[in-house]
Amino acid sequence: MSQQHSKIAVIGSGCAGLTAAIYASRAAMPPILVEGMAAGGPPGGQLALTSEVENYPGFPKGILGPELMHAMRGQAERFGTQFIVGDVHKVDLSRRPFTVEGEGLDPFTITCDALIIATGAKPKKLGLVGEQEPPAGMWGRGVTSCATCDGHFYRGEDVIVIGGGDTAMEEATYLAKMVRTVTLVHRRDEFRASRIMLERARHTANIKWAVPYHVDAILGDGDNNVRGVRLRHAQSGETREIEAKGFFLGIGHEPNTGLFRGQLTLDENGYIVVGAAAGGATATATSVAGVFAAGDVADHVYRQAVTAAGTGCQAAIDAERFLSH
Ligand code: NDP
Repeated sequence: MSQQHSKIAVIGSGCAGLTAAIYASRAAMPPILVEGMAAGGPPGGQLALTSEVENYPGFPKGILGPELMHAMRGQAERFGTQFIVGDVHKVDLSRRPFTVEGEGLDPFTITCDALIIATGAKPKKLGLVGEQEPPAGMWGRGVTSCATCDGHFYRGEDVIVIGGGDTAMEEATYLAKMVRTVTLVHRRDEFRASRIMLERARHTANIKWAVPYHVDAILGDGDNNVRGVRLRHAQSGETREIEAKGFFLGIGHEPNTGLFRGQLTLDENGYIVVGAAAGGATATATSVAGVFAAGDVADHVYRQAVTAAGTGCQAAIDAERFLSH
C-alpha cells in the first residue's frame, strides 16, 4: 500500500492527461499521473489503440498512435512527472486535499491539492465478436469508430456506418466525400439525429440507407480484414450481406465518468460540465474548485487528439494558477 501527496494529480494517460502533465511539470509542479486500463484499453488513451495518425500537427508523414503516446509519456517523464500504473477505484472530491484511491501492483492512495481528470471516453460498441481486438476481432482492421481519424484509409472504397444519431450522420457525410459509397445502417425507421444533419446526409448522393436493420455479424476475409456485414431486418428478420472494407461505429461515446457521478456536475450524457456552465472561472474548471477536466471526458463535440492535448494544456495552467493564488 503506497500513500503519497502531490500538489497536482492527473488521472488518465491519453493526449489530455500527458499534455497536462508536461505543462504542470514544466511549471515546477510535477504531478503524479495515474495510468491504467480502466478506460477499456492500455495506457495511452484512444490513440494507443489507433494505427496511423495523420492529422496530428508536426508529423507530415504520419505517426503510429502508440508511438505518439510513447513520445508524450517520455516528454512528461523528462520533466519530472511520476507515473503510477493502476486503476482508480474511488475519488473523494468533498474536501481538499482530494483523495484518489486505486490499485495496480499494490493498492495506492494519492492526496492532491488540485486534480486534473482526463479519463477520456470510449466508443460504444454493439457487442459483436468482430469489434474485438485482433486476433478474435477486426478492430483497427476495418472496424473503427473515428471517421476523421481513419476515413482517409478507405478512399474510393465502400464503407458502412452504424447509428441514427448526429455522430452517425456526421461520420457518413464526412466519409461520403472520400469513399465510393457509405451505407448507413440504423435499427429503427426514426432517427435521433438533428433534422439539419439528417437532411444533409439524405441529400448526399453516395449515402445509401439500410433501415431498419440490425447488424448480425461483421464479416472478415482470409486475412482478418473486414469484407462486409450481415444485416437482419428489424421486422421481417430477413438477412442480407453487404460488401464493405470499412465498418464505422457511430452509436455514440461513453465518457469514463462513473467515478465522479454524484461529486461533479455531469451533463445528460454523462460528460463532465466545465467552464462557466459549471460555475467555474476558467475553461477547464469543474463544479468543484480545484478539480479540472480535459479531453474527451468533457468534450463530445471535437474529440480530436489535438483538441484533447489543447485542453490538457489549459487544465495544467488552470491548476497551476489555482494553486498559486
Ligand atoms: P445518440 O445517442 O444521439 O445516438 C446514438 C445512435 O446509435 C442512436 O440512433 C441509437 O439508436 C444508435 N444505437 C445506440 N446503441 C445501439 C445499439 N446497441 N445497436 C444499434 N444502434 C444503436 O449519440 P450520438 O453520438 O449520435 O450523439 C450524442 C450527442 O452528441 C447528441 O446530443 C448529439 O446531438 C451530439 N453530437 C453533436 C454533433 C454536432 O453537433 N456536430 C456531432 C455528434 C454528436 P436508437 O435511436 O434506436 O436508440
